[in-house]
Amino acid sequence: MMKTIKIKALIFDMDGVLWSDQTPIVDLDWVFKQLNQYQISYAFATNNSTKTPFEYCKKLNHFNVKVNEDHIFTSGTTLVKMLKEKYPTGGPVHILGENGLREPLTNSGFYQSDQNILAVVGGLDRQITYEKLKNATLQLQNNVDFYYTNADSTFPTPEGKIPGAGSILAALVTASGKKAILAGKPEPMMFEHTISLLNTTPESTLIIGDRIDTDILGGIRANCKTALVLSGISSESDLMKFSYKPDLVHKNLVELVNFLISKNWGFAQ
Ligand SMILES: [Mg+2]
Repeated sequence: MMKTIKIKALIFDMDGVLWSDQTPIVDLDWVFKQLNQYQISYAFATNNSTKTPFEYCKKLNHFNVKVNEDHIFTSGTTLVKMLKEKYPTGGPVHILGENGLREPLTNSGFYQSDQNILAVVGGLDRQITYEKLKNATLQLQNNVDFYYTNADSTFPTPEGKIPGAGSILAALVTASGKKAILAGKPEPMMFEHTISLLNTTPESTLIIGDRIDTDILGGIRANCKTALVLSGISSESDLMKFSYKPDLVHKNLVELVNFLISKNWGFAQ
């Protein structure tokens, strides 16, 4: 007989699921009203390290989504947690990235330096220059650790797919010959932190994302249920390119939530 497991929590990717840059993809007000009505808990996990959890919180509030800052996980905050485990008191690091990476580093005692650094740490930097790539490459030639937020080659905007953190990382890897330790999806770490905050179990948690090789793979590695929405990076035809599959595929978040409501949030095993 088939066993049914109830979904109790959702973990949302943001770009390509909730919005495309500043434009909401679906009626977010409706979506989160449903979740509150059915008492489904939720949190957010993004590979985009340009903003801090506080800044994402403000953006969500702007779209009428009520959420606490501690329910937002980014590849930047995840990277800092990993770095802090290795270097509990912080120290000098060479940073390539935006505020969403710099601020959590500073809050954990790490500071920008080019002298005796512990590590080169990087993420998406939309002010990237040849000079910045050169400096990071020179630092990588020393015996230092190399951490990067994520390897997404692109990210979705209304203009189309534009270079993501992975495109900058690829330049550094090519130039230095070094491999980076990655913090974001598809590594399961960020989801594990989120599940522990939500006090749920992986099998009753649904990961919702628009990218198969990060959101869906990361969700599978964290032993969660996974749902792909086709409102961002991955298209239906992309599904055939991967050996793993999401549990659910829907056009967008509203269609997915309507489906879950129609199933009374039950998931056949
Ligand atoms: Mg996305």
